[in-house]
Amino acid sequence: MALVSAKEMLVKAREGKYAVGQFNINNLEWTKAILQTAQELNSPVILGVSEGAGKYMTGFKTVSAMVSAMIEELKITVPVALHLDHGSYDGCYKCIEAGFSSIMFDGSHFPIEENVAKTKELVEVCNAKGISLEAEVGAIGGEEDGVVGKGECADPDECKKIADLGVTMLAAGIGNIHGKYPADWAGLSFETLEAVKNKVGKMPLVLHGGTGIPTDMIKKAISLGVAKINVNTECQLAFQEATRKYVEEGKDLVGKGFDPRKLLAPGAQAIKDTVKEKMEIFGSINKA
Ligand SMILES: [Zn+2]
Repeated sequence: MALVSAKEMLVKAREGKYAVGQFNINNLEWTKAILQTAQELNSPVILGVSEGAGKYMTGFKTVSAMVSAMIEELKITVPVALHLDHGSYDGCYKCIEAGFSSIMFDGSHFPIEENVAKTKELVEVCNAKGISLEAEVGAIGGEEDGVVGKGECADPDECKKIADLGVTMLAAGIGNIHGKYPADWAGLSFETLEAVKNKVGKMPLVLHGGTGIPTDMIKKAISLGVAKINVNTECQLAFQEATRKYVEEGKDLVGKGFDPRKLLAPGAQAIKDTVKEKMEIFGSINKA
């Protein structure tokens, strides 16, 4: 199946009270592990690519070509969206040109008027091409490609302003942060989430910073309209732990243990296990 926009899978998720996971990719192993898990579990999936990861993989065209070819070679039949994560204005256009099926324009650092104007323009471009568009209101705290902030809460009226432009899904800060959560984290603000939901109606909401949010909070967020949850750091930590274990146990020194296909295998399996665990919590299994 060719890449699809995230629209249909998220509308279905919003109605069915489950969420589709966005799992960020960094290389071939990451992409393969996530696609295989989605297929095995018959779940829709969104592959997230940050601008930094896109650059690391030599550019968005390489990413787009790799993902499309992999879907064909692995005979993936579940819906897959290839999504730019926290895109800049220029980055959005580069990904549209490279064949991405979904983009996020992160205009949260602009004054609201400028965020509105740029988002409005991108809504038209994306609609014409059948690409889904995510917008962000109220910065998500933590580290976003080097920019560190606190767990903010979005203004529900600003959320409505952006939602009314016709975006596909909306990321609103509800006290969530990127990366590992600090020990003194106050938790998600369900008050904010409920207020945002009441303003934006059926619009699928996006929860960023899915790593380490307790399961009961995730489930409550889904019941309040969250239909897409972003997971990035958790796969990185699982990969790191499994790779460290392989090396610390000296397995790289035995026989052909140095072969990258062997060296990276435990990490890839750890990503698969993490993705499976998340899809179970999000409720997206057998929803393809
Ligand atoms: Zn994010």
